[in-house]
Amino acid sequence: MESQLRILEQMQLLDNKKGKYLALQKELPKQLTEINERVEQAMADLLAGETEKAEINKKQRTMETDIKTHHDHIRKYQSQLAEIKTNKEYKALNSEIAYLNEKVSEVESQLLELMEQENEIKAKIDEYKAALQEAEAYKREKEGDLKAQIDALDTHIQATLAERNELAVKLPQALLKRYGNLIRNKDNMAVAYTHEGSCGGCGFVIRQQMRIELQLRKKIVYCENCGRIMLDHKQVDNAE
Ligand SMILES: [Zn+2]
Repeated sequence: MESQLRILEQMQLLDNKKGKYLALQKELPKQLTEINERVEQAMADLLAGETEKAEINKKQRTMETDIKTHHDHIRKYQSQLAEIKTNKEYKALNSEIAYLNEKVSEVESQLLELMEQENEIKAKIDEYKAALQEAEAYKREKEGDLKAQIDALDTHIQATLAERNELAVKLPQALLKRYGNLIRNKDNMAVAYTHEGSCGGCGFVIRQQMRIELQLRKKIVYCENCGRIMLDHKQVDNAE
């Protein structure tokens, strides 16, 4: 009986190990996705920043062209002033020049605002570039290792199962079947240790008679509530 109890304990340790690998099989691909998403987000931010800057630069060019056109007109009108005969025409042309000068200073102050916006977006672009570099460096550092870990998980799981099956053949059929059902139906925990007088699996309080049986280790004791195989304390600690 003692050897069967030890085998059950070792099998549970191997099932715990398998459980950890299965959890990693879910977790590690998520980490891989996160690493790639971080790079993609940084690229999208940088692209958005550069697009914004290009739009600002386009507006600046349009305004600069406007200013140049206004200046050309002003120069043309100023040269015409000398040839003007009537006072009325002179006044009209002068007010046109004044209007254009006003326009020029209006556009110039808009240009100043745009320059500020351009500086702000330039600073942001620098930040986005740094974030992208960081995300790419992190990817270079982690991706290979993570992929290797993911690839190796199947092998680890198969090896753990093979090790468990080698132990399993040493158990009587009925006991093995019961163990297997508990693993499947009781959250991968077929063997539970007692914890402060209760079942470590479900918390059910153990009767005095069962406590004695647990200490004697002459028979397999099942929790009266959850049905798990109960053990008083750890006898084996390998396979962790
Ligand atoms: Zn229980």
